[in-house]
Amino acid sequence: MSMVESAAREGEECLRRLRNATGRSHIIGITGWPGVGKSTLVSRIAGRFLDNNQQVGIIAIDPTSPLSGGSFLGDRERMKGIDGHERLFIRSMATRGYPGGIGASTDAFIRIMEAMGKDVVIVETVGVGQDQVSVSHVADTVVMTVIPGMGDYLQALKAGIMELGDIFVVNKADRKGVEEVVIDLRMILGMMERRNDWVPPIVKTVAVKDDGIAELMSEIVRHRAHITNRGLISGKRMAAARLEILETLKAEFIHLIDERIGFQERLDSYARQVLDGTIDRYTLVEKVFKETGIVQ
Ligand code: GDP
Repeated sequence: MSMVESAAREGEECLRRLRNATGRSHIIGITGWPGVGKSTLVSRIAGRFLDNNQQVGIIAIDPTSPLSGGSFLGDRERMKGIDGHERLFIRSMATRGYPGGIGASTDAFIRIMEAMGKDVVIVETVGVGQDQVSVSHVADTVVMTVIPGMGDYLQALKAGIMELGDIFVVNKADRKGVEEVVIDLRMILGMMERRNDWVPPIVKTVAVKDDGIAELMSEIVRHRAHITNRGLISGKRMAAARLEILETLKAEFIHLIDERIGFQERLDSYARQVLDGTIDRYTLVEKVFKETGIVQ
């Protein structure tokens, strides 16, 4: 995973060898704003799967940490109770400004965890976003977490964001305003078009007290059965594979151009030329293509 993250060629070699290891695990995305209780929920859910004799992987995506290595102590603290379990593997990742709230290597990390034999891989991340690459592309089941008092925020969200949630959790249900936010959620979900006959359930939890976790677990399992029975997993995997190919193509393409003409070194000078109007970006790209011999 470290090799993959540092974009070294060795990491690429590992992924080439793991090509058969895909599609084995149930990928669960847990999203929500910082502080809503995602980590607490993840440790509870992971604990249940572990109790069930399952192999569990957790990918904690930390948008704030500039260094993924810096998150390890944080994991220890956040994953109290399950840390050190022999069937559990936890890995943090910094997004480094990568869009969509997930890191550039999330796909690869999931693949590696599938190869490790994880039955369940939980991806914990802030927000879902509507970017090309978001947790809804890699997860089979997306759990969106909110807390009391977030109703206005939810109503102000762009259309489309809420549609990415398969299960909604109102955590911190020990606080005032639970019913209000449930009503807001019902209203928003009621206005949405129904996807694949699945009505996203709303589950109230108090993660710190383990309340509502059993119900959340049964909804997660029910959703997995729903998408499996309807053959929807293959559709999701197709979309993810398409994206993976495009991302790889993009990266390799830039790498190729860089090798031929030292593109990255020139990037600043190109940017200045575009900014001061010496050239427009389309003409510039044409020029670069010609220079590299990609087009005549
Ligand atoms: P994250 O930033 O979304 O991962 O949130 P954390 O799991 O780190 O939780 C943030 C804070 O909320 C911590 O102090 C938790 O102990 C607390 N917390 C988590 N779940 C609950 C809950 O159900 N009720 C209350 N009152 N506090 C909670």
